[in-house]
Amino acid sequence: QSAKPGGETIFGKILSGAIPCDFIYEDEKCVAFNDVTPQAPVHFLVIPRKPIAQLSDCTDDDTQLLGHLVNTARKVAAEQGLAKGYRLTINNGQNGGQSVYHLHVHIMGGRQMGWPPG
Ligand code: 5GP
Repeated sequence: QSAKPGGETIFGKILSGAIPCDFIYEDEKCVAFNDVTPQAPVHFLVIPRKPIAQLSDCTDDDTQLLGHLVNTARKVAAEQGLAKGYRLTINNGQNGGQSVYHLHVHIMGGRQMGWPPG
């Protein structure tokens, strides 16, 4: 996977269909799919179709899109049976622990989450 901001990433290949992936949700703005290395019993990602490398590259023009990603996380979490709660995470940049430079929201649930994260 690419660690180069702006480069083609594994998520770009998933979006283009170059790498097969079962979406658990999709619409014209975003898709959701399960994380390949789940950190909780339920762990999926919501990503925009727009190739934004990381949260800090967003502008005020992305306000509606960012809201849509969070709202989609809420809806898919309910569909995934996470009524007891769940966590949203956006890892941003090197210190944030980001490894794939295509913006994504992690949704994790199905167990008690700890705080603070490592
Ligand atoms: P980050 O560390 O950038 O916040 O999170 C990237 C996430 O993408 C990781 O949790 C990693 O397991 C997941 N991931 C990386 N490559 C793939 C892939 O090819 N398919 C799926 N479904 N998830 C991936």
